[in-house]
Amino acid sequence: MFDDGFSAEKLFNQGYSYTYDDVIFLPGFIDFPTDAVNLSTKLSRNIDLSIPCVASPMDTVTETSMAVAMAALGGIGIVHYNNTIDQQVDVVRFAKAHQFPFVSELIFVSPSESIHCGDEFGKSQTIFVTETGRNDSSLLGIVTKSDWERLSDSEKEGRVSAYMEVNPETLPSSYNFKDVAGCIASKKLKFVPLVNEDEQVVNLVTADDVERMNSLPKLGLPSLGKDGKFLVGAAVGTRESDKERLEHLVKAGINVLVIDSSQGNSEYQINMIKYVKRTYPNLDVIGGNVVTKYQAANLIKQDVDGLRVGMGSGSICTTQEVCAVGRGQATAVYKVSSIAEQHGIPVIADGGISNSGHIVKALSLGASTVMMGSFLAGSNEAPGTYEYKNGLRVKKYRGMGSLEAMTKGSDARYLGDTAKLKIAQGVVGSVADKGSVLKFVPYTIQAVKQGFQDLGASSMQSAHELLRSGTLRLEVRTGAAQVEGGVHGLVGYEKKYF
Ligand code: NAD
Ligand code: IMP
Repeated sequence: MFDDGFSAEKLFNQGYSYTYDDVIFLPGFIDFPTDAVNLSTKLSRNIDLSIPCVASPMDTVTETSMAVAMAALGGIGIVHYNNTIDQQVDVVRFAKAHQFPFVSELIFVSPSESIHCGDEFGKSQTIFVTETGRNDSSLLGIVTKSDWERLSDSEKEGRVSAYMEVNPETLPSSYNFKDVAGCIASKKLKFVPLVNEDEQVVNLVTADDVERMNSLPKLGLPSLGKDGKFLVGAAVGTRESDKERLEHLVKAGINVLVIDSSQGNSEYQINMIKYVKRTYPNLDVIGGNVVTKYQAANLIKQDVDGLRVGMGSGSICTTQEVCAVGRGQATAVYKVSSIAEQHGIPVIADGGISNSGHIVKALSLGASTVMMGSFLAGSNEAPGTYEYKNGLRVKKYRGMGSLEAMTKGSDARYLGDTAKLKIAQGVVGSVADKGSVLKFVPYTIQAVKQGFQDLGASSMQSAHELLRSGTLRLEVRTGAAQVEGGVHGLVGYEKKYF
């Protein structure tokens, strides 16, 4: 081998804490096309994914739409728990009831209610009528906004049962996208509700949805469980009350559990892992967060099925500033994966991903997946609505340790029931509109494949072999090298990736 660059082992043992941007890989040898790169991977010991992407358990990132879209893409979403048990369970149930990535806003009323104004129809322009006025009873009828607008004022005052359309056209929720699209086209429908075996509405597909879907990149292999349903993960904390939450989540069918903490090497987490392993031996448990070998070893001893790595690396994070603990993410991923790999435990590189190059770096430094917050938060599938800030279309994105998120959730989670002094470790911000994850994630994955090809890695396994054998060579970039590595010296430019 030529004496050029450094092996990861040498580079990461010099006393520096490196971030993704600090390091750069030297190219390897290409003997396969980009499309031959296989990025299928493991989230945890028993959960396989076809793309290495995970949506973070944050309340501005992962609820039903995101969980469904990520699973449809071959990744996975981890549903956050900054809500009541019922709300988290509903998100999981609803996500698992889907067959493909359309999640319309579903609005329900009971037959005795009235509709007072057009805003009540929401974005989907359709209201469903069920006995309970919720999605837990069978469909009795529907009212579309256009039909309602044609009613006289006195008719609008009346109960919906007087004017709803009964026996509307529906399709079984088990239908795949092609079947639904075919029915919409052949029957010239504007929309069709999808109902489960109990005649409860679980989705609404419009002709516009079908057109949009057809314009998106073709989806690869979705993430499905043994029951043929989308894989969905959920996060819980390490409090006593989280055990009850977990019981309901398991009943709702979660496929994997993430125990959520910024510092996972604690007796609270170890006790929780022991409890989960004892109570739900078939559920994969991901522990964390950790950034050192010592922390990782303690969780590995408890037989975790995956490790989540990152402390202070998140885009909304102030942990390193407030608490003076953490680690540069490139170093953290390399160090933890060095020990996790010896035990066959996959590593999730969590936080700090802002472009496809960061994903290439995380995976080549030993991670099996990346967990993302800000990268996904500006998408159509993230919770919340778009607003305009300085002429830019944005969505809110906030840290789960921000004052705002802590106040919304249960303070006990972070502060102890009687604590008076709230210390935030995150901020509230916003991110630019990125469109649908169904569009930009496939492009991102293609870019990651190109990075792998440049390195000479045709799969996750071969990337990890290049790393461990010392064949992967890398260097630290000086400040000037980082400037040179970005666009520079132009008066103005537009950055478009696809
Ligand atoms: P946490 O629940 O792990 O810890 C909050 C506080 O509660 C800590 O002081 C902890 O020691 C204590 N605690 C936990 N379980 C306990 C128990 N059973 N009994 C008594 N005390 C207990 O949450 P966190 O670390 O503050 O993180 C909050 C959220 O913010 C999470 O969603 C986390 O992912 C996110 N966050 C992440 C990072 C990061 O760098 N990855 C940093 C800060 C916050
Ligand atoms: P991002 O992808 O860089 O935006 O980082 C997302 C990650 O930041 C999450 O997956 C969490 O690990 C972490 N995180 C979430 N909320 C907070 C917070 O309030 N403070 C610090 N880190 C956070």
